[in-house]
Order: sequence, then structure tokens, then C-alpha cells
Amino acid sequence: MGHILWVEPVFKEMIWGGKQLKEKYGYAIPSDQTGECWAPSAHPNGDNTIKEGEFKGQTLSKVFDEHRELFGNIKDKQFPLLVKIIDACNDLSVQVHPNDEYAGLHENSLGKTECWYVLDCKEDTKMVMGHHAKTKEELVKAIENDDYDQLLNKFDIKKGDFFYIPSGTIHAICKGSLIYEAQQSSDITYRVYDYHRKDKDGNERQLHVKQSIDVTTVPYKPYDLAKQVEETIENGTRKELVSSNYLTLNKYDMTGYNKVKNDKPFQLVSIIEGQGTVEGKEVKKGDHFVIRFYSPLETIGGGIVLEPNGVKRRKRKEINEHDIKKENIEKNIKEDIKENIKKNGNDNAEKNRKEKSVIYKQIEEKYLAAGFFPPLTA
Ligand code: ZN
Repeated sequence: MGHILWVEPVFKEMIWGGKQLKEKYGYAIPSDQTGECWAPSAHPNGDNTIKEGEFKGQTLSKVFDEHRELFGNIKDKQFPLLVKIIDACNDLSVQVHPNDEYAGLHENSLGKTECWYVLDCKEDTKMVMGHHAKTKEELVKAIENDDYDQLLNKFDIKKGDFFYIPSGTIHAICKGSLIYEAQQSSDITYRVYDYHRKDKDGNERQLHVKQSIDVTTVPYKPYDLAKQVEETIENGTRKELVSSNYLTLNKYDMTGYNKVKNDKPFQLVSIIEGQGTVEGKEVKKGDHFVIRFYSPLETIGGGIVLEPNGVKRRKRKEINEHDIKKENIEKNIKEDIKENIKKNGNDNAEKNRKEKSVIYKQIEEKYLAAGFFPPLTA
């Protein structure tokens, strides 16, 4: 039983899409207008299939529904996170997403808080993030007057930039960007402005002005990058790009062996640069996988790994309950091993060795029954 769920990405053709997903990551994209790669994803609009192992052929949403123990028994109704790689050959509309409360009430969906890491971009590539209105009235007036040049906060970006985009933040990806996006698993977008672009029939795309005004946070407050933490790890660095109630995103930059700690119910990993091995299996940029419940991960190799950790941080009480439960089960297992050795006699080393695999099997089962994933040594 492996610690990893390897997932097959789903691709989305978009009018603004391109072919970088093929050129940079070697994906078999459906056309030269492919805008998005969804992986890992369990969203109904792009549910990933498990590529190998005991759950091979099943969708990630099905495994999440039927084997919640692999995801730390979290209570969420649906798989909470979604990761995309976005190739914007053209400007995306200026948009805003609702929070959980608004989306639950009006759309029967999760809200959408997201974050972006710039994988690559052309020179002079722009981004829209936030606005300059100081009050809701100013925001409404600017929208009514079509005064988006003044309203929108627009600037140049470069490779490696990071942006945290809480629900309620007006934003737009502009042409020339290749973006890694980690977000709540939601597909609710309110379009504020679409540059008055017309399709071949002369029609503009639908806007959602009322909803946009409802949900936009005024005034805009940029994310404080000073909150980011960077540390040296064995053969590399780890940078925590953001840690919020919705997700934590870590960037691992590694050049050799490491055993990566996992203190979250589960983790979604995307390799965005380089190659190496994970749990003995060769991996390369463009691979995505889910690490099951609290499993540490043995990795070797170079590259950058982006990893949004599973869900909201647990409350202190839950952490304590978890630790106590884990301590108890470890105590029981140690006693089991002791008893076995006693039964066989200390001098019967050969028999003990033979029984070791049986004991390990029992240990594994005990861990699973208690809702924990067995440690790598077992
Ligand atoms: Zn968005």
C-alpha cells in the first residue's frame, strides 16, 4: 500500500488558452487553445482519475467519499482544494469570487479563495490585483462609468512572484502568463469586466455586475509578503508562501535526499521544475499527486515542488485528541511486539524475524483501523 495517490490531469480548452502546457510540461493537450490543467482535482467539472495502485481507475472524488480515513477523516462535504496550471495566451476577464457564505446562499457552492505562483511569463506581462476605490460608492461609480483604467490596480509581474487572493478580491490574469493556482474547489466566478471583447457574432460575454459589487472587498488590502517564512532543510529550502484558513502553500526547492515532514491531513503536490524520485518512483515536472494522511515523504532529486496542504488548520483541541489517539496506538503496538518476543523467547531470533512481517502487517491494520496511516517503517 503506497502513501501516494497519483492523479491524471484534466485539460480545459479556453478561448484565451495556448500550447505551453504541451511545450513546457509535455502534456497531451486537446488543442493549441488549451487554457487549464486541473490536477489534483476532485471537482465535478474536472475530476481526476487515479493512475495506479489499489484505487487505479477510480476518481479522486470517489476515493475521497469512500475512504475518508486517507484524508485525515476531515468533515468537509467535498474535496476542498483544486490545483490548476493556467496558460493565458490572451487576457482573462476581470473577475471576483464570493466567500463561502455568499456562495453557499446564492450558488450552493464553496466560495473561492485562491493563490497564484508565476511559473513563467513573457516580458511586460501584467496582472490585475485589487482596485483603488476607497468606498463602495466609489467602486459602483467607477463600474458605472466604465472607468477601469483608473479603478484597477495593474502592474508588471515576473517569474516566481506569488499572490494570495482571498474571496472578494478583484483580479485578472493577463496574456503572457503561465500560472500555478491553488484554490478552494469551486467554480464560481463573477465577471466584472471583459474589455468589451466581442465574439464572432458580435456579442460580449455575460457580466455579473450586481454580484461583483456585492462581494468585492472595499478597500483592497494587498497580502503582506513579509508573513512568508523560509527555512533551510536537508538539501534544499522550504518557503511557506501562505498559510490561511483555506490552505497552506509551501514551495520546496530541493537538490538531493530529503524526508519531508507531513503534519497535515493530506497534501497535494505539483512538481513544477526538475526531476527526482518520490518513494522510489521517478517523477518529473508536470507530475501531480496526493499524499495520504500524515505520511512523511522520502524524496530524492532536484526541482521545485509546490504543495498546498490539506484544509483548514486543526483547532488545538483536535490536535490534542489526534496526538493522544496516536500515542495510545503506538503504546499498544510496542506492547504487542514485546509480547511476541516474550512468547518466542529472546534467543529465537530467526522466528522473530519471520514473525516480524506478520507483526508489521498487524501494525498496519491497527493504524488504519484507528484512522491513521501506518508509518513508513512499518
Ligand atoms: Zn479567479
